[in-house]
Amino acid sequence: MKEIECEIIEVQDYPIPGILFKDLTPVWKSQDLFNILIDKMTEIWVGCEIDTVASIESRGFIVGAPIAYKLNAGFVPLRKPNKLPREVYSQAVSLEYGETEIQVHKDAFQESKKVLIIDDLLATGGTAIAAFKLIPEDLVVGFGFMVELGGLNGRKKIEEISDVRIESLVIYD
Ligand code: AMP
Repeated sequence: MKEIECEIIEVQDYPIPGILFKDLTPVWKSQDLFNILIDKMTEIWVGCEIDTVASIESRGFIVGAPIAYKLNAGFVPLRKPNKLPREVYSQAVSLEYGETEIQVHKDAFQESKKVLIIDDLLATGGTAIAAFKLIPEDLVVGFGFMVELGGLNGRKKIEEISDVRIESLVIYD
């Protein structure tokens, strides 16, 4: 998706030295590109009977919620610690630049049959794997990313634990 890739701004040494940060906000800001982005990320999964989209706070929500709407699916937020008001499951996440945790309500997937995990960007795969572990395994149909940093081998790490589909719109080497 060249037209989307062209609008992504690379910021060197953000948020810490050594990280080449992909600033996706120009794509989201563009009326045309945001439309194309959501349409393209959605059409991959049409016909897969997805009933739940799970997205990761916070940038994942920007793409995950409109994709859920377009797929006529429900939306489950996977949130940073201490944001959800009821009982939660937690998973530790090791990021390209640090450590955190994500949480989900214990009853979030009670009625789900087919779950799609959406995030803005796949880097080392730590976040995606933590999300996967928060969802009953047999429910997950696939992962959808706006951007994939191929050199960080996140895809390989996901493939080591699951054989579900992994789809990214823009893939960097
Ligand atoms: P990871 O767990 O390493 O796959 O990192 C994925 C998450 O961290 C995504 O939700 C991104 O928002 C963020 N992220 C990691 N690396 C970058 C990067 N180089 N540029 C922009 N966002 C990043």
